[in-house]
Amino acid sequence: MSLQDITARIAKAEDRSGRPTGSVKLIAVSKVQPNERVQAVLEQGHRCFGENRVQEAAGKWPAFKEQFDGVDLHLIGPLQTNKARQAMELCNAIHSLDRPKLAKTLARLAQEMGSCPDMFIQVNTGEEQQKAGILPADADGFIAECTALDLPVRGLMCIPPVDEEPTLHFALLAKIAARNGLEGLSMGMSGDFEQAIALGATHVRVGSAIFGERVKPQE
Ligand SMILES: *Cc1c(COP(=O)(O)O)cnc(C)c1O
Repeated sequence: MSLQDITARIAKAEDRSGRPTGSVKLIAVSKVQPNERVQAVLEQGHRCFGENRVQEAAGKWPAFKEQFDGVDLHLIGPLQTNKARQAMELCNAIHSLDRPKLAKTLARLAQEMGSCPDMFIQVNTGEEQQKAGILPADADGFIAECTALDLPVRGLMCIPPVDEEPTLHFALLAKIAARNGLEGLSMGMSGDFEQAIALGATHVRVGSAIFGERVKPQE
């Protein structure tokens, strides 16, 4: 696969769902990829990327941002409060807002800095113990809490359990977003982004299908 193939498949999926072309944002997930591969995708004109670690993002993106205008960087992995400031300085969106303590820290920093990245609240739709995200039952309350803190909450994000039908999770996320008046849905990865688009994804996070298999495992 290549960037072009994925872009074409997104356009088809948009069309099949009667959604306007370009309504789904492709986040090219560049974590752990060699810089040459990332550079190649930047040279093809793509600007929206996802990283799941602040440290790794801080190591590679400042240099790319000097070289390429208009980089749109999304943090899609867990965020520790002690890295919140760095994440806010580096990223245009954070997809892993998942607990009150982090919300309060981000809100305080946003006041201080006078700006704030777009926020997506991560929902643990599979209620998996090891996974980040607010539980579905707590989502409405947490969304209200974040909004009351003046955080720019744009939508919700989920990572379905690996061994379950992802569409059930996409549908649940869409339902929670709809009843809270949120438009953004960050869902769908290399293996299931077309299904996610059919269920309303506004942001798909695609890594290996664009860049190839990750060279070294992350954990
Ligand atoms: C790595 C990652 C992706 C991309 O996964 P692929 O299967 O390579 O497309 C998407 N979302 C999150 C949160 C990730 O950590």
